[in-house]
Amino acid sequence: MRDGDDWILNGAKTFITNGYNCDLVVVAARTDPSKGAKGISLLVVERGMEGFENGRKLDKVGQPEADTAELFFENVRVPQANMLGEEGMGFISMMKLLPQERLGSAVNNVHHAKQILLETIEYAKERKAFGKAIGTMQYNKFLLAELVTKIEVAEAYVDQAVEAHADGELTAVDAAKAKWWSAQSQSEVLDACVQIHGGYGFMNEYRVARAWKDARVTKIWAGTNEIMKELIGRDLGL
Ligand SMILES: Cc1cc2nc3c(=O)[nH]c(=O)nc-3n(C[C@H](O)[C@H](O)[C@H](O)COP(=O)(O)OP(=O)(O)OC[C@H]3O[C@@H](n4cnc5c(N)ncnc54)[C@H](O)[C@@H]3O)c2cc1C
Repeated sequence: MRDGDDWILNGAKTFITNGYNCDLVVVAARTDPSKGAKGISLLVVERGMEGFENGRKLDKVGQPEADTAELFFENVRVPQANMLGEEGMGFISMMKLLPQERLGSAVNNVHHAKQILLETIEYAKERKAFGKAIGTMQYNKFLLAELVTKIEVAEAYVDQAVEAHADGELTAVDAAKAKWWSAQSQSEVLDACVQIHGGYGFMNEYRVARAWKDARVTKIWAGTNEIMKELIGRDLGL
């Protein structure tokens, strides 16, 4: 709500990465509810503003090193000078940068999975069962061959998207493809890596176990896999 030269902000947001430690947040606020997406503006809210509270640090399944929190805004007085960009342009500004965020996720997804896969291949060479390295058993050998192929194919697509982005040509739809496909591949690859580690794969002291837990969220955050497919489907005219 506008109040003279200021805005009075009310609301809350669950799941904010670094929300517990942050000193400054950019809030997508509804400044004109009658205009839908065109009634959203970006307000910069600073720690110490009355009515702004960083909630508790949420207890996540993975990624314990990164905090995720809830943010609360109760009658926070935000000066007009803290509006980022023009009034009503918030959604459009965010849409411009979403492909870049999704591409960043895709790069992380692929390389996170690839590193653990390389470590798993080494493990499969060393770990012996029934007198031979588990990686030499045909099932595991073929599985590892499939995983390497899967990740390299994903990497090629993501690399192509990075180049398109560098040329200013990455579309929102291609970014959505890179994000969901890399998250799905990461999930399948890491799950198989846990399996190849046997019981050790379920132990927190093993990197593979922690990587598997850390990766689960990538199909959810920055737009779920289903929402990515929704964007792609719409582009198909469906
Ligand atoms: C660790 C973590 C960190 C996060 N960090 C941030 C952050 O920094 N900033 C931020 O803004 N958000 C952040 N998020 C929020 C995240 O982006 C959302 O959780 C995510 O977009 C899903 O929204 P939701 O949780 O409301 O799920 P919902 O929207 O309730 O979705 C529930 C399920 O329904 C499906 N669904 C919903 N709509 C449709 C549809 N139209 N068609 C088909 N299926 C559908 C979803 O795909 C999902 O499977 C974070 C989340 C987590 C877990």
